[in-house]
Amino acid sequence: MTTYNGVGVYAGRVIGKVLQMPDPIKAPSTSLKLSADETPEAAAERIKAAAEAVKNGLLERAEHAGRDGKAVLKSTSQMATDRALLKSAIKLVETQDKAPELAVWEAASSFADQMAALGGYMAERVTDIHDVRARIVAELTGQQAPGIPVSAEPFILAAIDLAPADTATLDPKQVIALITSDGGPQAHTAILARGLGLPAIVAAKGVTEIPVGTEVYVDSNAGLVETEVTEAHRELAEKYANRKELPDFDGHGVMADGSAVPLYANVGDGKSAEKAAGLKAEGVGLLRTEFGFLGHDREPSVETQTASYKAVFDAFPGQHIVVRTLDAGADKPLPFLNTKEEENPALGVRGFRTDWTVPGVLTRQLEAIKAASDDSDADIWVMAPMISTTSEARNFKNMLDEVGLKPRGVMVETPAAAVNAEAILGEVDFVSIGTNDLTQYTMAADRLLGDLAHLNNPWQPAVLKMIKLTVEGAQRASTTAGTKKYVSVCGEAAADPALAVVLVGLGVDTLSMNAGAMAAVSAVLKSVTREKAQQIAVKALSEISSAEAKAAARSELPILDELGL
Ligand code: PEP
Ligand code: MG
Repeated sequence: MTTYNGVGVYAGRVIGKVLQMPDPIKAPSTSLKLSADETPEAAAERIKAAAEAVKNGLLERAEHAGRDGKAVLKSTSQMATDRALLKSAIKLVETQDKAPELAVWEAASSFADQMAALGGYMAERVTDIHDVRARIVAELTGQQAPGIPVSAEPFILAAIDLAPADTATLDPKQVIALITSDGGPQAHTAILARGLGLPAIVAAKGVTEIPVGTEVYVDSNAGLVETEVTEAHRELAEKYANRKELPDFDGHGVMADGSAVPLYANVGDGKSAEKAAGLKAEGVGLLRTEFGFLGHDREPSVETQTASYKAVFDAFPGQHIVVRTLDAGADKPLPFLNTKEEENPALGVRGFRTDWTVPGVLTRQLEAIKAASDDSDADIWVMAPMISTTSEARNFKNMLDEVGLKPRGVMVETPAAAVNAEAILGEVDFVSIGTNDLTQYTMAADRLLGDLAHLNNPWQPAVLKMIKLTVEGAQRASTTAGTKKYVSVCGEAAADPALAVVLVGLGVDTLSMNAGAMAAVSAVLKSVTREKAQQIAVKALSEISSAEAKAAARSELPILDELGL
């Protein structure tokens, strides 16, 4: 028996057969010629047939996909048999004697380059063309098609990591668990798995070596994959399968004693805001404005920005919305803000710091936020990311005062901000703790590195203590100011139902998360009083490791087991 250990990102216990994510299709050798026993006409027919097969395969998958996946698959299927694409591939066979797979690869690549040069919507099709290119080449050469495998039976998907393009078509009815060898608990794949409510383990080294078809037991709460399935495993998986159904979030985060813990959503644009509103989020606790800028070579105009913020505000009329100013840099570089190569980008010019190197962008962004807010009845709060000193908080507050935006806040993402929360909250009205970055900076562990995933865990005692320090600082600042200084958590920690209880027990006022996590967090908060949450927090904080802190909190929350969380 082999056991693989990783970091569980969404709880669940399942048994199933493993399918491996296929390797990406490689570019054929540029010297590959049409074989002597194939005529150009026959090669042309083979290209057409392969394209047709790819189109039909994608359409068949679209039948079974969810709404978003269906749209993606249908549009990609049209691209597969695009006449201009096939014509230029066939021409390369006829005039230059190229092998069919090379001809398709080159024709599609030049198509993609043209689309990229056109920019805007056309440039967004580049990923589709690359996908179609790989699929036709796989069909022509007898390789396994790229992307998530298809199977008649539900399966456990093993991968190095998932590309964003793969995620649109991930169907939780087909994929019953996700296990990856790379990635961290705060990285893209983990965030997606939580959103889908899919049992998932990341950073489990070796899982890509599990032979296809092997039956395995996955316990994502314990972060382990076992290749020998025992009777005890079957009982645990059955118990999980028969768990109580998780009720939908009803739009009111409350505890067992009736005290409120507002649950907000993390969104990136109007579309995700509408989705969150549909799931009854009580507002937006984190609008990641840089998401609207990704892929832009130049700073969008104030008018364009205003329209994109307004789309988010319109999804939550009269409700609370926290807008975070641009957090460019590190894993989210923007060409017009991050102009220099850096040795350590996570410790470099990112977040609020980009205002020092490229002044003006932040001021124009604030103008756009103000314009959108004047045109909306939502309750707009604004905060800056990556703050490390009190004077940065003061400078940001002054910028907000100049445009007339209030309440004014900053994120607590650095240990410096956590230990200095009292002084920082002497300057601003609220803070939101970004536990993803606070964890990476407290533990000095890159949040994207699978090898350090065990450190990159918000249950680490040092991180819990940073959160406690922040709340205590806020309490003292509130007393001094004679007015409440709010503390929210908008990192992935808020989406972990057991950790959410600990956060509330530590004194955090509101939680913001991927909208898909609200149902679980709400159900668990409802099962405990605030007093009980405080006791659980004390218990978790007295432990000496992340695993023990987590186990101590979970042992006090029987509802987690009932709901299979
Ligand atoms: C965080 O760091 O926790 C956070 C919410 O910001 P982001 O994940 O966008 O860096
Ligand atoms: Mg952050």
